[in-house]
Amino acid sequence: MILYNSATRKKEEFVPREEGKVKMYTCGPTVYHFAHIGNLRSYIMEDVLEKYLRYIGYDVNRVMNITDVGHLTSDADEGEDKMLKGAKREHKSVMEIAKYYTDAFFADAEALNIKKPDTVVPATSCIDEFIRVISSLMEKGYAYEAGGNIYFDTSKLKKYYIFNDFDEEDLAVGVREGVGADENKKNKADFVLWFTKSKFDSQELKWDSPWGLGYPGWHIECSCISMKNLGEYLDIHCGGIDNAFPHHTNEIAQSEAYLGHEWCKTWFHVHHLNTATGKMSKSKGEFLTVSLLKEKGYDPLVYRLFCLQSHYRKNLMFSWENLDNAASAYDKLVSRTAALSADGEIDKAVFDECRAEFCAALDNDLNTSLALTALSGVFKKKTNGATKLALINDFDRVLGLSLADRAAKVGGEKKGAEDGAGNGTGDDAEILAAIAERAAAKSAKDYATADRIRNELLEKGITLIDTPEGTKYTKG
Ligand code: AMP
Ligand code: ZN
Repeated sequence: MILYNSATRKKEEFVPREEGKVKMYTCGPTVYHFAHIGNLRSYIMEDVLEKYLRYIGYDVNRVMNITDVGHLTSDADEGEDKMLKGAKREHKSVMEIAKYYTDAFFADAEALNIKKPDTVVPATSCIDEFIRVISSLMEKGYAYEAGGNIYFDTSKLKKYYIFNDFDEEDLAVGVREGVGADENKKNKADFVLWFTKSKFDSQELKWDSPWGLGYPGWHIECSCISMKNLGEYLDIHCGGIDNAFPHHTNEIAQSEAYLGHEWCKTWFHVHHLNTATGKMSKSKGEFLTVSLLKEKGYDPLVYRLFCLQSHYRKNLMFSWENLDNAASAYDKLVSRTAALSADGEIDKAVFDECRAEFCAALDNDLNTSLALTALSGVFKKKTNGATKLALINDFDRVLGLSLADRAAKVGGEKKGAEDGAGNGTGDDAEILAAIAERAAAKSAKDYATADRIRNELLEKGITLIDTPEGTKYTKG
């Protein structure tokens, strides 16, 4: 499989260190609020990556942290502590907030068919490990104490900026916007490993350490949780692109300083979900959640399909119109699946040919939109229903769209509604698919296609009636 590696800025053949096994780490959510659908875009695409690696035969061991402590809104002990902010807002303790939003995160993930990673570790469960690694960094001369806090000394590294093309001299002058000066730091890029003196005296969770009562900086958790659970070498590290700097840059700095060798080979970054007003972000307070999509009547898997329609390394623009187009496409996939009957033997030649097309798409830097084209191609193949259904179910192991499940529901509902209508489920599924296609064309302002579909149906004696509840049809 070819994957883009943000560390080398190249597409590379993905080769894990140990044959057949992949060690994969994912930055988990900061659990002070609901995950927004932007966060979930990252987790959906990472899920597709994990599922595809499994699909092509790798044994994947995936670990994820839960950030339930020490995540300040900026890197310089500025901005509020995010967990504390959530606790204040809801008059709850930090641990209550963490539990509530961790559960909410996994409920959303489940609704989106995102597999829970094999190992999920809350940062607060690993404090001893953080202290151990920070102590070692102190001993090795990579960390220093200043003003009561422990800082990582970035000037000790040969190369600090991994994902950005900054000059090394930027280490001295600092390049990050929005980060105020912290008098304690020797270099602007230095970052906190352990706080004992924070601007936030009200910090609820504190632990004893060799440097006094305090709490960890944000970055140390991912290095420690990864190394503890996956060992000294990591094959692939995932996260949203905003995590590349400073979070992943700092993870690399401290892990490699601690280990004394390269740590993670491939860095997989998912680009942002944006709205017309910019990047969707939790701290802005206004964001869309899976619950809101459900309230508005969308199947969460419509959002999953929406994400799969675009490449993970492109920003994705969210609008309700775009989501409606995905909903039409999803309905079409479901109704086309419902129209198939598992008759006949699986045609191996066709199966292999379609599968090869699907794999070629995903092998090329996880091109999910081409994988969806391969899926659409299955419906058009001149082959029997059994082969088509086998392919749909096979592809769905990676795509996670639950097509067979939703199709069975549609089939069941229609059967009940149409007993005695005499036209059969297959026929109606085709009509529904055409209606969905026409809706998509209309949303895309392609009125010529929309009219063509209407006229084609009319020739078959099917009249479409547009109503406020959607398009209905009469036959004969
Ligand atoms: P957080 O809960 O803020 O720690 O973020 C969880 C994950 O979502 C991280 O991998 C972030 O990089 C990612 N993320 C944050 N905002 C967006 C966005 N608008 N689009 C895609 N991914 C995002
Ligand atoms: Zn992380």
